[in-house]
Amino acid sequence: MLSSNILNVLNRTTLNFKKKGLASPRLDAEVLLSDCLKTDRSGLYMNFERLIADEELAGFLSCVERRQKEEPVAYIVGRKEFWSLVFEVNSRVLVPRPETELLVEEVLKNCSDSGCRGINILEIGTGSGAISVAVASELKKAHIVATDISAEAVKMAGKNAEKNGVADRISFLCGNLFEPVSGEFDIIVSNPPYISAEEFEQLPLEVRDFEPKEALLAGPEGTEFHYKLITEGSRYLKCGGWLFMEMGAGQKDRVAGVLRENKAYDNIGFRADYAGIDRIAMARKTRGF
Ligand code: SAM
Ligand code: GLN
Repeated sequence: MLSSNILNVLNRTTLNFKKKGLASPRLDAEVLLSDCLKTDRSGLYMNFERLIADEELAGFLSCVERRQKEEPVAYIVGRKEFWSLVFEVNSRVLVPRPETELLVEEVLKNCSDSGCRGINILEIGTGSGAISVAVASELKKAHIVATDISAEAVKMAGKNAEKNGVADRISFLCGNLFEPVSGEFDIIVSNPPYISAEEFEQLPLEVRDFEPKEALLAGPEGTEFHYKLITEGSRYLKCGGWLFMEMGAGQKDRVAGVLRENKAYDNIGFRADYAGIDRIAMARKTRGF
């Protein structure tokens, strides 16, 4: 690429990404270039004429090359925004998704009644720590236990809690589902792996080939983790406590069926995401159960 100004480089990169079939070519080019120039997107817009030095261009071109191979932009720049907070991410953790903010919203709505009371929350499968850190940033009196089977995820989540100033209110534990957990909670929240083996093959390359398999893949049905969270989770919920889970397209009926069969729960509800996909399942542990 010829040495050039910001606008020319953006235009050429956008065209290049478009030819590769990337879904958001202009945005990707802007995020990568602003990261390389240590500015933000508005910094690019205000300096379209600024010339890019050779070393800056070399750094940028190596990022472009990675993106051409469909590596997620978040892994290339090493961070992702979620709930207006910045999370460090690497290829050992799932990139937090916008629809998961709905899970945070539902937890917060549920807690709004409890006012200033200290509340105990358990998150299973914390990944980058996105859900727990977002909830802790809003609920100053909450104490959260967040687990993951991946030690590298637990480490990254801890780092993100530190960076966002909530590490004193989240305990991170490594282990399989409820195995490292003891006690009873007001809320259990989880965005578990929910992709079936069949769906996994159909995932976009940038998800399938770059994000951790253990963050995505459930069993043959995709709802195996939900079943375990429902059946094992009731033992870790206080009576009147709530379970919140994210799920994938087409999973509502199966998840609803398992919740209804399980006498430990009532007040079963669902919330769709902005694409109209039933995304969040919630249920209350029956009072007096
Ligand atoms: N909570 C994060 C988010 O919403 O962005 C990550 C969710 S990701 C879909 C699922 C997470 O569950 C991954 O971090 C994965 O390592 C973890 N996980 C997978 N199997 C698990 C298990 N058996 N016990 C605990 N965590 C598990
Ligand atoms: N929403 C993610 C995807 O579609 C899947 C996350 C999950 O399995 N919990 O790629």
